[in-house]
Amino acid sequence: MKMIHFTVILFFVAVVGAGSVVQCEEDYQSLREGIVAEFGAETPSEWAEVVAGVKTRLDTNDKVIALTFDACGSKNDGYDAGLIDFLVKENVPATLFINGRWIDKYPEYFKSLAANPLFEIENHGLEHKPCSVNGKSIYGIDGTKNAGEVVDEIEKNARKIEALTVRKPKFYRSGTAYYDEIGVQIAEKLGYQVAGFSVLGDKGASYSKAQVKEALLGSSAGSIVICHMNHPEKETREGVIAAIPELKKKGFKFVKLSDYRLK
Ligand SMILES: [Zn+2]
Repeated sequence: MKMIHFTVILFFVAVVGAGSVVQCEEDYQSLREGIVAEFGAETPSEWAEVVAGVKTRLDTNDKVIALTFDACGSKNDGYDAGLIDFLVKENVPATLFINGRWIDKYPEYFKSLAANPLFEIENHGLEHKPCSVNGKSIYGIDGTKNAGEVVDEIEKNARKIEALTVRKPKFYRSGTAYYDEIGVQIAEKLGYQVAGFSVLGDKGASYSKAQVKEALLGSSAGSIVICHMNHPEKETREGVIAAIPELKKKGFKFVKLSDYRLK
């Protein structure tokens, strides 16, 4: 008798579970179709890191800096544990833009970063594609080809992050940080602010320690700094470690993007 009850309950759970997956998929498709209907015929006129709608600063005169670190998920990506450990030791908050492929590559690191209240996890796209509605490319990386692909790139990674962290991202930064203005409008329509930057901290992790330090010391009130946490073999970490104590001495505090309104 007990066994029968158990089987019935299992069956019920399976049906309800499958039902919510179907519901979720239907919601996604209707969201995608709505965006394609609204933006599918638009032709963009801009293609750059800063186009209409991209936010590059915190809207404040407070002496605060938002450090952002991208994890791109490219083939040779690593995890800069030394950089993250330093931020934790110094109690420096940061916003982490994480790509779907990086999450799949480093699920345990992702879980521990998401569990640390010092960090907020934001959306760096599902496949690290530049944000285009007509297939533009940059640095040899093909962008999304149409409005529907923009939705897939943004929303699928947002939902992936939400499922793993129980927190929906608030910000989106595309792979390569390139956009056309229609792609930015789509991101906003989906409910995300597009986070650019005002301080190029490590130029795709290509800067030397001295260059990273110099770039970060050029920050001012409300700066958003972009650096990378996926290249431990490069010099980003050393530059950040050199710059942060000096910025603190100058009276700067570090905040997350969501602590302020962006402009
Ligand atoms: Zn990236």
